Amino acid sequence: MKIIEKIKHAEAQKQVFYSFEFFPPKTAAGVENLHLRMERMAALEPLFIDVTWGAGGSTSELTLAISAAAQKYLGVQVLMHLTCTGMTVEQVKEALIKAREAGIQNILALRGDPSKGSAAWEAVTGGLANAAELVKLIREEHGDYFGIAVAGHPEGHIDSTSTEQELLHLKDKLAAGADFVITQFFYDPAAFLTYVEHCRAVGITAPIIPGIMPIQSYTAFKLMTDYCKTKVPLAIREALEPIKDNDEAVRAYGVTLGADMCRALVRAGVPGLHFYTLNLEVAVTNILKATGYSESAALRRAYPWRPSSDARRA
Ligand code: FAD
Repeated sequence: MKIIEKIKHAEAQKQVFYSFEFFPPKTAAGVENLHLRMERMAALEPLFIDVTWGAGGSTSELTLAISAAAQKYLGVQVLMHLTCTGMTVEQVKEALIKAREAGIQNILALRGDPSKGSAAWEAVTGGLANAAELVKLIREEHGDYFGIAVAGHPEGHIDSTSTEQELLHLKDKLAAGADFVITQFFYDPAAFLTYVEHCRAVGITAPIIPGIMPIQSYTAFKLMTDYCKTKVPLAIREALEPIKDNDEAVRAYGVTLGADMCRALVRAGVPGLHFYTLNLEVAVTNILKATGYSESAALRRAYPWRPSSDARRA
């Protein structure tokens, strides 16, 4: 089933949904652990889960294998990432055929990060130049078979020349046939909401799902925000400074902050929340518990007639 249909259904029911991103681990033991973690997290009833595609196709076989197994056994829709980095058009076509053969019906179409060791992104000879071209290729090769998501960048993309150009490129991806947008992570909900306003102002009507990356360790947080050049509001920097060497305190703060951000976004009307899990389950599970969203999913299943709860938008 296409994820956009599930999003439309959740929106019509005024039910907040959530989804979980995972990445292919480096070792066989890691892959085994990930399958078990995905199975436990699938019990939280995410609308979908997604599996990243390594830079330069470095994890392509594993991405396909993990996505295929999850699609087959977990009873949850899988959104498989696919990038243009280091891929010829023929290799992209082959990946799409394999995904389709494995029963995967949803693709997150991305340009991709630069290959390992390269500072700037470059298309390979005979490759695609950006995500819009990938969306176009998917539609040309497979018609309406795949549901397609694309990336949005609320704080701007590193290669972007202007905010206006960035928005028009996003619009191009949707015009080429993408169904919805998942954003890069951010720590300032107001910046995300302004981005959504700008998208709507240029005529983008597709659902825009905010990307949430819970703070699970100070080192990882610093690494990710430095790499992605993410703006970190002063209040967060001030809260983290005195506790940065206390892992437990950082994790507890990450849950409180994550839950506050999710509540603020839901109050502002976002249809759902996309969690970058970093292959860890405790922070996301605790955020969902703190907000009441996951409990509400279970209650809805047990008591379908039950009226409003925390997870239902006003
Ligand atoms: P695009 O939409 O192609 O945009 C890239 C840049 O090119 C932008 O600056 C855009 O404005 C510009 N541009 C677009 N079209 C044109 C045009 N016609 N002319 C000129 N400029 C143009 N990376 C991975 O390697 N693997 C993953 O699995 C992965 N998963 C991700 C998941 C999410 C939800 C997000 C938000 C990002 C993910 N990334 C992943 C990172 C992503 O690949 C990078 O951010 C990448 O640099 C941009 O990808 P994009 O699809 O947004 O690119």
